[in-house]
Amino acid sequence: MHEFGFELALCSHLEATTDSVVARQLGGTVVAPGNRIVDVVLVEQGPEFDARTRITDQRIPTLAVESDVGVGSAVYWKDAFDCHPERAREVTDWALSVGFFERERGGRGRHGGREYVRRTTRYPDWFSSLTAIENKPDLGTPGDLERQLRTDVSLALFDEVILATESYVTRAHLNRIPEQVGVWRFDPETGEREVVREPTTLTPESTGVELLDRQPLRTDVAFVDAAEKARVRRRVAEKAYGKGWRSYDLPACAHATATADGRPYCEHFGCVVDPGADCGASCTAAEPSDPPAVDLAALRDERSPWVANPAGVARRQVGLDRFR
Ligand code: SF4
Repeated sequence: MHEFGFELALCSHLEATTDSVVARQLGGTVVAPGNRIVDVVLVEQGPEFDARTRITDQRIPTLAVESDVGVGSAVYWKDAFDCHPERAREVTDWALSVGFFERERGGRGRHGGREYVRRTTRYPDWFSSLTAIENKPDLGTPGDLERQLRTDVSLALFDEVILATESYVTRAHLNRIPEQVGVWRFDPETGEREVVREPTTLTPESTGVELLDRQPLRTDVAFVDAAEKARVRRRVAEKAYGKGWRSYDLPACAHATATADGRPYCEHFGCVVDPGADCGASCTAAEPSDPPAVDLAALRDERSPWVANPAGVARRQVGLDRFR
């Protein structure tokens, strides 16, 4: 089974066996975004998780959370951000569209044509620990694995780092990876998971070291303090909440179906497929058709703590907007 199938099987297993939010393919660095994409992220629920589910099923922009827009008095949107006005406008519109901001009752006229906004609710304390999981089904072809795991441990953006593999794990394998990294052996066919080694909890609340570049005679690093990490952790958690792990379109092919948990399955080849890599013009067996009619969001709602289409928390405008 290739890495994509392994990854989806692991995500489905974690969704069924934990009450964490499970997501795939999220950035795991601070200074150089994109330098490290984490295969699977687990977001453990915090004390106010239910409050988060009531706001929106989408990602809340973290710049809106960090802005001076509060729950009490409405503020002029432009004054509430410490960034370029174009970006501030984008974030304001985004926060309005997901129901985290609302316009001042009474409309624009009340403030001389300026748009005033407030939060619909306090931003809840909805997540606790974050776990990064690196998938390497075959430890015989480790690629850049060791460097990636060392980066994760020294930066400590996540509370725990896990290596998941299908291979038999030898002592030599364990010796090559940082001792703080936990190791799971996972069978994607049966869904059995064996904990080979427990992870050591890292310290996101202290300064970490991010590896930026490594050349034969020099290594570039950046120090990342706890406040910056906290901001990025919130961004990771929000992205995970909005995105989940079924972040693919099912193949537009007559041979495509979906497994009961929503993984893309090819009846012609008899396996889970990666729609982005396996399907389309490059597949000799492809038969263009409508994609399978499967509601992936409904499956996520049914099988995880994420709530689709919540009513939202914005106060009713009682038609005042029509006086604008
Ligand atoms: S495009 Fe190919 S791999 Fe994808 S579902 Fe169709 S036959 Fe299967």
